[in-house]
Amino acid sequence: MSAGLAVTCRGLVYIYRLEGYDVVALSGVDLDISAGESVALLGPSGSGKSTLLSLLAGLLPPSAGRLTVGDHDLVRATPAELQTLRAKDVGVVLQGASRNLLPYLTAEQNVRFAQRGVPAERRRELPEPRDVLAMVGLTGRGRNRQRPQRLSPDERQRLALAVGLAGRPGLLLADEPTSQLDTRARDEVLLTLDTVRRSGTTVVVVTHDPDVGLRMGRTVTIRDGRVGAEGRRGEDYAVVGRDGTVHLPQEALRVLPPGTLVGVEPQPDGTVLLVPARSSDVEGVQ
Ligand code: ADP
Ligand code: MG
Repeated sequence: MSAGLAVTCRGLVYIYRLEGYDVVALSGVDLDISAGESVALLGPSGSGKSTLLSLLAGLLPPSAGRLTVGDHDLVRATPAELQTLRAKDVGVVLQGASRNLLPYLTAEQNVRFAQRGVPAERRRELPEPRDVLAMVGLTGRGRNRQRPQRLSPDERQRLALAVGLAGRPGLLLADEPTSQLDTRARDEVLLTLDTVRRSGTTVVVVTHDPDVGLRMGRTVTIRDGRVGAEGRRGEDYAVVGRDGTVHLPQEALRVLPPGTLVGVEPQPDGTVLLVPARSSDVEGVQ
């Protein structure tokens, strides 16, 4: 596989402009992903995960802020450059395996079809579809000649990953690749993603499943359109936003429910105390 691509987001904003009103889906995402890193994007439904993935894929243009993928500046990129990016640098696996597959083609033909988008001069360097299928563990029992509906759900998901990997991308983006799968099938898909990452490809996966997050090495939690928290090897950190706000974790919110007045007291040792006001402190204050 080709060398992994790094990703940089600075104050990244995306606004869906609808008739009569706008939806701010991303409200200032700051995020660095190193080449070859694997990251899970977590967060509640509607927080902006799929929108962020679409921006990284060059499928939606940023409304404001900065976004680079490898050498590509996705704010300035021309339509032709975006097309090249999608064809050879970024592999996208949409949510729902079948949406990535042509039902009347075999597994091998699906991978070959995905390779047709790659510019002719690079196509010679591409792996044989058989080898892409081997990478995702789809070999033996004639599975390369099966149509998608004859495969099991995890095999179908792994075929969707193979289609995303067909052009040897430096960045693989996958939206919920393990939803709809039982635990065993999920683990098969996670092993496949491990293999992809070890080959040097940068991997970004959107997931609802905290276990998937743990397996990916680094988690980035999106809340209200920005990065609210980050986790590394099981340790969780809140992230201070560019406007100075911090999303408190659930344990802290039990002590400091929304609306609580807190004293914010920097300490000499570099920590900061959040001290809730006593009711006597605030009584009579209007
Ligand atoms: P997630 O993937 O985390 O569930 P999305 O990125 O799909 O979140 O959505 C983020 C926000 O943008 C939500 O408020 C959602 O309703 C809105 N949104 C998503 N897609 C569209 C669209 N095509 N048109 C208008 N609003 C959208
Ligand atoms: Mg989504």
